Amino acid sequence: MLKIEYRIQSEIRVALQEILERYMLIGSKLRQEVNGIIEEAKETEFCSCINQYQTLSFAIGCINCLRKRVINLLCHKGLKATLCVSKWKHTKNYPAGSHEYIEVMASTQGRKKQIPLVIELEFRDQFEIAKACDEYMKLVDKLPLCYVGKTEYLNPIVGVMCDAAKRSMEEKKLHMGPWRKRSFMQMKWSSTSERRSLNDEPSRQLLHQSCSKSSKPAAAGIISKRKLDNSC
Ligand SMILES: [Zn+2]
Repeated sequence: MLKIEYRIQSEIRVALQEILERYMLIGSKLRQEVNGIIEEAKETEFCSCINQYQTLSFAIGCINCLRKRVINLLCHKGLKATLCVSKWKHTKNYPAGSHEYIEVMASTQGRKKQIPLVIELEFRDQFEIAKACDEYMKLVDKLPLCYVGKTEYLNPIVGVMCDAAKRSMEEKKLHMGPWRKRSFMQMKWSSTSERRSLNDEPSRQLLHQSCSKSSKPAAAGIISKRKLDNSC
């Protein structure tokens, strides 16, 4: 029994390692640039809202303001960055919820077309579980703190981690909440999730003012699917 257990655990570890290696190979130059910008944003006083004394795992301030500051800096560097909001309704399987992340457009080789990349500032935190088994914790430690890449790699990582979380919960005899399930986690960054343009929000106006270099006309109201016209 123990032998079987070990074999499955090692398979999960190898699967994650393989996905992460492929993730690291693609877009490494842009990832390096984005990570530099994230570090730059953390060093500024990025948060001045009522949550400014909140403690993130890597900075003081709130994640919403940090996300906006990162978008701001990305725009200043000439990159096309957008704040995306995925929202989902309550169903019999899941509680209602929403999630914010950044999307940045990256040029492919030869600059023929642009592809959207997801920037998730709290990627590793998404998988933290309070009473996880050691094996699961080791997997979490392998994850990048921030995810900068295609959804192509994001979804398999989420899949492997959710399988591992399920095993960890079973081992610790804990109930697995629906928000830990793969299909729920993937909704956070899903291209088919309903997305809302934040152009109407006052903070959005400020954001646009600061990256007016390449700003596009603002689209009002709810926009679904990938095409958000609030890129800076
Ligand atoms: Zn704030």
